[in-house]
Amino acid sequence: MAIRDARHETMDRERLEELQLRRLGAMLARIHERVPYYRSRLDDAGFEPGDLSSLDDLRRLPFTEKSSFRDNYPCGLFATPMDEVVEIHSSSGTTGTPVVGGFTKADLETWADLVCRLAVAVGVTERDVAQIAFGYGMFTGGFGLHYGLQRAGATVLPVSAGNTSRQLQIMRDFGTTVLVATPSYALYLGEIVQRREVPLDKLQLRLGLFGAEACSEEMRAQIESRLPITGTDNYGLTEIIGPGVAGECECRAGMHIAEDHFIVECLDPSTGAPVADGEVGELVFSSVTRECSPVLRYRTRDLSTLTHEPCACGRTLSRMGKIVGRTDDMFIISGVNVFPSAIESVLFAIEGIEPFYQIILEREGSLDTFEVHVEVTDALFDGWMDDLRAFERRVTEELRSALLVRPRVKLVEPGTLERSEGKSRRVIDHRPA
Ligand code: ADP
Ligand code: ZN
Repeated sequence: MAIRDARHETMDRERLEELQLRRLGAMLARIHERVPYYRSRLDDAGFEPGDLSSLDDLRRLPFTEKSSFRDNYPCGLFATPMDEVVEIHSSSGTTGTPVVGGFTKADLETWADLVCRLAVAVGVTERDVAQIAFGYGMFTGGFGLHYGLQRAGATVLPVSAGNTSRQLQIMRDFGTTVLVATPSYALYLGEIVQRREVPLDKLQLRLGLFGAEACSEEMRAQIESRLPITGTDNYGLTEIIGPGVAGECECRAGMHIAEDHFIVECLDPSTGAPVADGEVGELVFSSVTRECSPVLRYRTRDLSTLTHEPCACGRTLSRMGKIVGRTDDMFIISGVNVFPSAIESVLFAIEGIEPFYQIILEREGSLDTFEVHVEVTDALFDGWMDDLRAFERRVTEELRSALLVRPRVKLVEPGTLERSEGKSRRVIDHRPA
């Protein structure tokens, strides 16, 4: 199993923490000097950059929130003059708030190195042909994977998102071996491959690099059953750098975090206190090597777990588990917190269901309600009405027992729910604001 940057990826913890402390110190000095927003936040906290003496001091420092980006839109958080900025990206806007990240030449180098790391970690080599079905443009996904896969020596096909027939044509003509996509788009591609009966031996595909949205184990299995592919997960966000923050290795047992560049904390979202390894908390990152857009303790709203256990691959970098949800996505029904990912896990485990669903939130009087639309297989849909009703009751019951609230379930014909070319939109919120 290849390791791209063994010096950093297998560093012992003590040396890694020394490096983090040194880099954090330099970063604090920079943002205090160059970013008025951070200067005033640090001053308010009574913290002088020179006060930093251990990594534990991090906990005394202020958080950066999504609103910090909004309030300083577009470039107010940049720590370098525009002359040194060579590229700008912004978030895909899933939650409607524009987040901007700038890159100097050195930042682009780091970015390519980090994405290269995660590609090498799942076995990408210069023999691979990588098809990028992430959108190019302001979104960090397309360009980030492009730079990193090129650095890994792969042949890059910058197809960008959408146009599924063309994706398949290119995949066959150029012998694509690595597919870069959101898991929901990979699933859709798999559906089309099946529906058009594309012979799998005409495809050279072997590896999927999935990211930008959650990919549950059930979802991964669904994709792998439709495409001749081993699916791997990687995680990133515009606020920190884009893709390249963390990625699975060939063990597929959590995503190694590039801790030499990003100091991670996992905190109880309500108290801000650190949670133990294995417990779910909100991930908070400080990007200590970014020149243009360094962020201090960014609260991601992404919920996950951390582990510092050694990994069979030999990397010492800690691992984050799958994202269990974004606090943004969570909705509350009758006082119970519901995550779309929990609904997905139940649905995908039921035979007779196609892996496509949508959650519709409504308000009736003062009560929030939710309805889950689920596609069923042709066989079930074409069968007896009574069977369909019984199946609907079963799905409702399984959801109720897992979520502790009862949804309305509506079974729909195969192929009717919207397919996604990028990040999927599972929740449609019709509640008045
Ligand atoms: P946004 O989706 O907020 O508009 P980005 O395009 O920067 O902005 O996407 C970053 C977000 O995407 C992360 O905060 C996280 O919620 C989600 N994300 C990225 N990679 C993954 C992954 N591998 N698993 C789950 N969620 C992911
Ligand atoms: Zn590993």
